[in-house]
Parts: sequence; C-alpha cells; structure tokens
Amino acid sequence: MNRWISDWSELTDTISEDFCWRYIACSKSTDDKDVRARYDYAVEFLSPRILPYENNLSQKLIDCPLSQKLNQRVFAKHLRETKRKLSLPVSEGGFVREAINQQTMMYHEAIHHLPPLHTTQDVSKNSSETIQKIMSNLVKLRHFEAVSGGFDDYISLRYAQLDRVAYDVDDCKRYHASIKRYIAPLWKKIISKNPLYATIPPASVADRIYTSVQWDNPTGEVLMSIVGDCLDSIDPEFGNVFSHVVDTGNIDIEHRLHKHKGAFVIDLPISGTPYVIMNRCHSFKDVVTLIHEAGHAIHNRYTKGAPVRFLRHFPTEVSELVALTMELMSSQLWHDIPGLKGYGMAAKQAHYFQIVHSMLWVSAIDEFQHWVYANPFHDIDERKGVWSQIYGAYFGSAKKAGSRAVSRICMATAVPHI
Ligand SMILES: [Zn+2]
Repeated sequence: MNRWISDWSELTDTISEDFCWRYIACSKSTDDKDVRARYDYAVEFLSPRILPYENNLSQKLIDCPLSQKLNQRVFAKHLRETKRKLSLPVSEGGFVREAINQQTMMYHEAIHHLPPLHTTQDVSKNSSETIQKIMSNLVKLRHFEAVSGGFDDYISLRYAQLDRVAYDVDDCKRYHASIKRYIAPLWKKIISKNPLYATIPPASVADRIYTSVQWDNPTGEVLMSIVGDCLDSIDPEFGNVFSHVVDTGNIDIEHRLHKHKGAFVIDLPISGTPYVIMNRCHSFKDVVTLIHEAGHAIHNRYTKGAPVRFLRHFPTEVSELVALTMELMSSQLWHDIPGLKGYGMAAKQAHYFQIVHSMLWVSAIDEFQHWVYANPFHDIDERKGVWSQIYGAYFGSAKKAGSRAVSRICMATAVPHI
C-alpha cells in the first residue's frame, strides 16, 4: 500500500513538474504566443482529462481496506481530505461549471491589463464596468453551484474545498475586528507624518518610503549575494539553499516589460530546486522581496524530506508565515548591508510600514469577500457602497483621493483570488 501511494505521488509530481515549466516559460515572457499555447494546452486540454484518473485513484484509496492499516499519525489528515474531496460537487463538466470557467478566464484577462495597485494611474470607466459585471455573474454562479451541491453558500463550499477546519467565519470576523481596533490606528499615525500619503493609494505609501531609503542600487548579481550573505548569517543552511537556487540558474529577478507581475516561487518536485521569479523595482524593497521569496524556497527545500506529495502541501497561511518570518529575522542584520550607508533603521521602518499596510489590506479584502459571498444577490452599487465602507474602516475615507476612489473600488474586485 505504501509503495502504491508513493508511485502515485511520483506520477503526480512528474505531471506537476511539466506543468510548472510551462508556467515558468509563460511568466518569463507573457507576450510569447508559443509558450502561452503550450501552457493553455496543459490547462484546457490535459487537466480535464487527468482529473477523472485522479478521482478514480482517490476512490480506490478510500475503498481499500488496507488504508485503515496505514500509519494514522501520518495518513489520517490525507484520508480525511481525500474523502471530503470526493464528496464535493464534481467540478468538471456541467453547464454551471463551464460558465464559471468561462467567466473566470474573462475576469483574469480583464484584470491582467489593469495598472498595478500601487500606481496612481486611474482605471478606465470601461474596464471598471466590465470587471464589475463579470464579478456579479461569477458571484451568482458560484452561489448556485454551492447550493446545488448541498452547501449553504459559496463560503461553506470554499471552506470545505480548502479543508479549513482550524477556524470558521466567526473567527475571521473577530480577526477583522481586532485588526481594525489595533492596527488601523497605526496606519493613521503613518499617514499623519506626511500629508501626501493621504492622497496616494495605500500600497504606494510603503513604496515611497522604501524609495526614500538611501541605497546604492546594486547589480542583480550583487543583490543576490547581499541576500545570500544575510541568509547565511541567520543560518548557514539557509544560505546554502539560496546559493543552490542561484547556482542552478533557477532565478529570474530583472524587471522586463512582458514579464509576469509580482514575485513568486514555483515548486519543481522532480528536479528538486524551486524557481524564483520577481521583478526588481530598484529600491531597498528588492532586498525584502528577495528574502521573502528565499523564505518560500527554503521552506520548499525543507519539505522535500517528506516521502509523499500530500505531506509537502501547506495552506497559504502557513507558507506566508514562513516567508514573513524570514523577512523579520533578516531585518535584524540590515545595518551590516553594504551600500545602505547607515540607513538600516530607515529600511527597517519602511518594512514595518509595509507590514502594517499588508495586514490592513489582507483583512479588508477578506472582510469584503466574506460579505460578497454571504450576500450573493446584491447589485453593483450596493457592492461599491460596502467596499467604500470597509475600505474607510481600515484606511480612512477614500474621498480625499478624489477620482482614484473609483479605481480603488474597482481594485477591490480585481484581486485575482476573490
Ligand atoms: Zn509569499
């Protein structure tokens, strides 16, 4: 039985590695039609054909009496998750599922062309309206799919899909309330330091503060060695993992026009070394971003010891905790970074501002999405009103920023995972 599970795990790893390389090629140059076609083929043609085999194997595992004899300390969670997955509404085929897939693709296409969150560029009225309409369709379709599958709403379906058993909706509400009570006043203090901060999008406040940190902008190679040295000082093993990523060439940090936005790490289960992608912005923020991504890569490396695939999987909350911890541990060493010319404290302060902003933004979006799916029959105006209200409770009134408030309302619904 153990052998059968590890063979299945290896097969899944092999498929996953192939899909990941397609995704990496796509992220490196979003304008290359050939690599895009290879990726789309995997998602649209191969995935739906692989899924029934996966479900059959899962069913076989649950039905087999030997599964009860497996080491329950290791396998209990996986068996529970597999059983739960099999009981969820079938997600392939069907009219509603097809409509959801189609609307999701349109949604991603529409938000791909939006200016990034931290810029002051306005979103055109046209694209804002398109996004709002797609969002309304998606919310109703997802609600319908959840209810047809026997769930109260999309929230409970999603909690089940993510096997979220450690906390519930009420815990999230308590979390939102405490962030508003304890963290929002800190943001007010930051804003009061400079009148300009109240008139620009919150995400760009932290960026501006980073830009004001005096810092010799190094070459990519020097940046990587600065980060490597920092990790080495925390723990030589961390430094080793990072230099292995660099030596393998599985890292791409320079900004390019047609490169995917943001920074992320992609797991490559067969070849073993993860791939790091980011876009440099040429401020001190690059150090923080690269250390964050290195944190994911190191986490990834340590989970490699687990014999089968499902034991290496962690929910996002856990992965992000690891990466943020790496940022915080390294910040104690920033005063030694060459080129920072004694501005270690300013860099640390910029970092804390960024953390305060992230905590508020994540909580605001989470409160908003809980409302959206708990009230699926709202109209666009009502949704805009609720977002303004939530936004105000975290960041203060959006009115000061004038027309950009409209952009922000659009932005709230333009978060890819909502
Ligand atoms: Zn992360």
